[in-house]
Amino acid sequence: MDPTWPGGRTVAAFFSFDLDGEAWLLAVDRRNAELPITMSQAAYGPKVGVYRILDVLAELEVRSTFFVPTWVAERYPGAVEAILAGGHELGLHGHMHERPDLLSEQEEVEVVERSIRILTEMSGRPPIGHRAPVAEISPATNRILAERGVQYTSTYMDSVVPYFHNLDGLSLLELPMHWVADDWGFAMVSPNAYPAPHVNPVMTNDHVVSLWSAELEGIREVGGLFTLVNHPQVTGRPYRIDTLRRIIMHARDIDAWIANGEEINAHWRSLPTPG
Ligand SMILES: [Zn+2]
Repeated sequence: MDPTWPGGRTVAAFFSFDLDGEAWLLAVDRRNAELPITMSQAAYGPKVGVYRILDVLAELEVRSTFFVPTWVAERYPGAVEAILAGGHELGLHGHMHERPDLLSEQEEVEVVERSIRILTEMSGRPPIGHRAPVAEISPATNRILAERGVQYTSTYMDSVVPYFHNLDGLSLLELPMHWVADDWGFAMVSPNAYPAPHVNPVMTNDHVVSLWSAELEGIREVGGLFTLVNHPQVTGRPYRIDTLRRIIMHARDIDAWIANGEEINAHWRSLPTPG
C-alpha cells in the first residue's frame, strides 16, 4: 500500500479550533446581546480559553488552525496576535458566525469577501482554509469559496479521508470532520440562551478522551484523517483542557502525522494522484 501520509505514517491528526466567542450567540438570536452573563460565558473563549489552548499547543509543539469569525477577530485582536505568534493558521468561519444556508447568495458572497479581507489585513496573507459556522452550508458555498482562492474547507462528514469537491474546474479540498470529535456536545451548557437553551450533559474527561481515541484509532485502520474540532470556550475551561493534552499525546503515541489545515492541504495536493 502506498503511504498516504508523510514518513509512511498511517493516520493524520488535525487539531483545529473554532474561536466563536459571542458571535455564535448574536448570530443565532440578537436577543442574546441583552444577556450579559450568557455573553460572558462565550467571551471566555477569546479572553481566556484560547490562551490556555495555545499553551498546550506550544508545550506539545503542535501547529494548528483557528477558524475565527472576523467579528471576533476584530473584537479580540490580542487573541489573533497570540494565535499568529504561536505559528498557527487563521481560517475563515464567517464574519458574525452566520449560517450560510440562511443567507442569500449575495449576502454569502459579502460575508466571505469581508472575512477574507479582514483576516488578510490582520495576518498579512489571504486565508486558504474554511469551516462553515454551525457546520452547515448552502448549495453555493463551495463555489463561492473556491472562486475566491480558498483551497480547503473542513465541514463535511461523509468521509474520513480528504477528497476534492466536484466543482467544474475549481479546486476545493475537503478535510472531513464529525460531531463526535467536537467538544461542544459533551459539555456545552448555556441554559438562558435564545432561541433555545443548550443543556448538554457534561461528560467526564475520561469519557470524552475515550470517544476521541476510538475515533482516531478507527480512522487509522483506513489510513484517514482525524479532525478534532474544539472551542476555546469549552475546552479552554480549567477542568477540560486536559482532554486536548491527552488526545494529542495519544496521537503521538500511535505515530500519527500531526499537522494543521494548510500543511494537510499542501501534502494532499502534492500526491501524484490526489483523490
Ligand atoms: Zn463556530
